[in-house]
Order: sequence, then structure tokens, then C-alpha cells
Amino acid sequence: MAILIRGGLIVTGDTQDRRLPAGDLLLRDGRIAAIGPDLAAEAAALGEPVETIDARQSIVMPGLVNAHTHSNEGFEQGAYDNLPLELWLLESYPPEGMPALTERQHYLRTMITAIQSIRSGVTMVQDDLLHAACTPEGLDGAARAYLDTGLRANITVTLWNQGMLDSLPFAREIIPAELQRKLRESPIPTTKDYIDLFHRHYRNWHGREGRLGVILGPCAPQRCSRDLLEECAALSVSLDLPIHCHVLETRTQAVTAAALYNRTMVAHLADLGLLTHRTTLNHAIWLTAEDIARVGDARASVTHNPLSNMKLGSGVCPVRELREAGANVALGSDGPTTSDTADMIEVMRAAALLHKLGDADYERWGTAADAFRMATMGGARSCLAQDRIGSLEPGKSADVILLDCNAWGFIPLNDPVRQLAFSVHSEAVTHTIVGGRVLMRERRLESIDEAAIKAEVAEEAERFRREDMPRMRAGAAPLRPHIAAIYRRAMGTPLPGLPDMWQPSPTNLAAR
Ligand SMILES: [Zn+2]
Repeated sequence: MAILIRGGLIVTGDTQDRRLPAGDLLLRDGRIAAIGPDLAAEAAALGEPVETIDARQSIVMPGLVNAHTHSNEGFEQGAYDNLPLELWLLESYPPEGMPALTERQHYLRTMITAIQSIRSGVTMVQDDLLHAACTPEGLDGAARAYLDTGLRANITVTLWNQGMLDSLPFAREIIPAELQRKLRESPIPTTKDYIDLFHRHYRNWHGREGRLGVILGPCAPQRCSRDLLEECAALSVSLDLPIHCHVLETRTQAVTAAALYNRTMVAHLADLGLLTHRTTLNHAIWLTAEDIARVGDARASVTHNPLSNMKLGSGVCPVRELREAGANVALGSDGPTTSDTADMIEVMRAAALLHKLGDADYERWGTAADAFRMATMGGARSCLAQDRIGSLEPGKSADVILLDCNAWGFIPLNDPVRQLAFSVHSEAVTHTIVGGRVLMRERRLESIDEAAIKAEVAEEAERFRREDMPRMRAGAAPLRPHIAAIYRRAMGTPLPGLPDMWQPSPTNLAAR
């Protein structure tokens, strides 16, 4: 049914940042048919039933895009603190002890991210589904969760065929021989296995209901063999698909690049044909000035994940420099164990605040409007969906959210975008609409039975906590001191050409 959203404060998020103080939005056939001051006559002229949503007390905005998360971490929200990436990764993705879940369990895990997304005004998620087992059930479960909830989603097929010994610096020197032998024994899928798995998922799910995408997720350059990365580059071109890749998230990874490639990770990607406008670099923190210029020249995208970067102590993404160089910057929550939320309003707040630190030149600080742009058009561009979503414009998909002007954070209404970033919480989102379908109305989910799903998620997540997590802890335990030693050594390794904000203190690190 067509929908007429009446009399709202419309924030289009288009290139001119057009706003209508009391405007109408007409949605038909899943798209935005018109935007204007009064569309009652246009709605009547359709000659079909039209549902009217009274928005006189609402702000109407484009749906937010969460451009980077890992819904597979849903059962571990709040499980970790004070771990840098390399140590967190060992706990969350241990080489032994990862549970093999059923499709239904994968489905329920993804539901935690999907439902928090709808509740915080997200209409599209780019889900980097990092399930180590790489079984068909993982992606099938996640895909069904997005189909059932009504969200739009790009789901990656994770590609990761280099083990710890080949992707961490000093691993062969520091990890004891016996543990190295065990690590070498764990089976790793071949490039052909991965590409076959990708094609299976692509055939089954890509383009479903016009909402699902199956995209390429080489986990990180150092975690993929050269031929696997080259296969990705070729598929990205032949199928016009996004490549979604973690790049230079930590100082340790910058040291890794120097050790493995004798050049930076960005230079390595460019040489293999992976640095294009279809590529999204997740985090992209430890970049040299030359790297930034390269990413900008390629018109590549970067996902900025401020909550995760703060929690893991990873560093600060040079957002302004990247944008000035020509790169597109999107916003991501990152996974539920590193941020630990899928609430994009919280992520926008962090992004709007973080970049006011560290520079005396206040005119160059990041703003709330920058964070909003990253969370809308920036995300759309990272998904290669900039012509379909990211702003309210006639012809684009009807991905729309409504926020309640009576929320405390909107009183008085000075600037809806600033107040979205600084003042309100996700409870202010009343309606989430994707492709013209109302997924949440007055904060009630319409696409699924939320109470029933929540009960099932809670039971399954508790079982995971009780039975699976101890096995994960046991799988991580033997390697814990050695990964810590690798981390400390990497932190003490000089990195010429990089502004080293994380200079280790001699007492903290060198002494150990
Ligand atoms: Zn990530």
C-alpha cells in the first residue's frame, strides 16, 4: 500500500542538505514517489488506498546505514574489556573451541543485531559475517534473519586462509614449537573451497527481495593468500560487488605489513588490484600520508568504527584527511563484542565527538553533520547503493525513519541533526520503514514477533554462555601469554612514516 507521511520536519540528507519544515513524503511501490509541502492531491490521484502517517510531531530522515558489523558476535555482548585487538581476537575467535552452530542458532545471533538496528533507525546493515567454521548454515541463518525482519543487508562471505603463524609478526619466534605444530594441524579451507562457497551463497541469496546482497569479505590482507585476494579482485569486477576488508586497524598490523610485504598494507592491496571504488577498508587507522592519498585517488571507502576503536585501544581513523583526499567515509558499529552495540545513534555520537580531540584548530574538528553524512550517504556509497538509498530523494528506495519531536533531547528543536548526534537516544525513533514496508511503528516491531524471538534468543544465548564460552576460553588459554608477547613486541617496534600516537611507555612494555 502507498504511504503518505504528512507534515513532518523533513531532513533529506541530499547533497544540498535540503530540509522542509512541514513537508509530505509519498511512498509507492517501495520507492519515494514525491517530496513536497502538501502531497494530499498527488496521493488522492493515485486512485488506490493510501495509508497516512501523521508526522506533525516527527522528524523524517533517511534510514541510517551501519556499514560494518559482525552479527555473529551477538552472544558475546559485554564479554570482554581491556583487550587490544590481537588479544580480543584470540578470545572471540580462538583457533580451538569455536562451537559449530545450527542454522537456527546463527539466525538468533544475527537477530540481536537486526532488532537493535531497526530500533535505532538503521535500514541497511553491512554484515561482515565472521563465522570461523565457514559452513553454509552461518550465512543461511543470517540471511534468513535479515529477510524475516525486513532489513536491507549486504552479507560478506568471509575469506580467511592464513593462520596465526602467517598473519602475526614474530609468531614463529615467540609461539613455542609444540603450539606451532598444533596450529599448523588445524584445517584451513583452500582458495577453491572459499570461491565455491562464495558462489553457493551468491546463487542462493544475492538480490533476494531486492534487499539482500552477498559480497566479498577478505578478512584482512594478512589473513588471505595472494591468490585468494586476486580471485576477490576479479570477482569484484566481474560481478560489480563490494570488497569489504579490515585494513590497518592496529599498530601491530602496520608492523605486520612491514614484516610480510616490506611496504604498507595499502600498497600491497593496490598492487593486487584490490584498491578500487568498490573496496571498503574497515578501520584504516594506521595509514601513512601516502596511503591516505592512494585510498583517496582510488575513491575507495573506509568504515569508521569509533566505539570499537576506542574500546580496543586501536587508535583514531584520520577521517578528515581521508575525506579531503577524496575517500568516502562510512560509519560502522563493528561487532557486538567490540562496541558492544548495534545502536547507530550511539555510534554517531562517538563519531561526532571523537574528532574534536587532538587538534587545536577547532574549525577543522568533525561535526554532527559529518557523522550524519557518514551514517547515511557514506554508508550507502560503501554498499555501492548510493543511487538507491542514503537520502530522501524521489526515485530512491523508501527507506525512511521517523523520530519523535517530543523526546526530551529534541526540546527545544534547534537542529535535528545535531540533536540526533548529541542529545537523543534510540528511543526517539518511532518508525523504521524499509522499501515502503513499516518494520517498526510507534516502537512496535511489525515484521516479526519480537517477544517470541527475544525469549528464544535469551535461552540460546544463555546456553552459549554456559556451554560454548568455556570451551572458547580453554582454546585461547595456551596462546594467551604468547599473543600478549607478540603485541608488546609490535608496540615497541618503530614505524617510520607514521604519526605514532601509541608510543609505548618503557615501563609498561620494554621492561617486561
Ligand atoms: Zn570488523
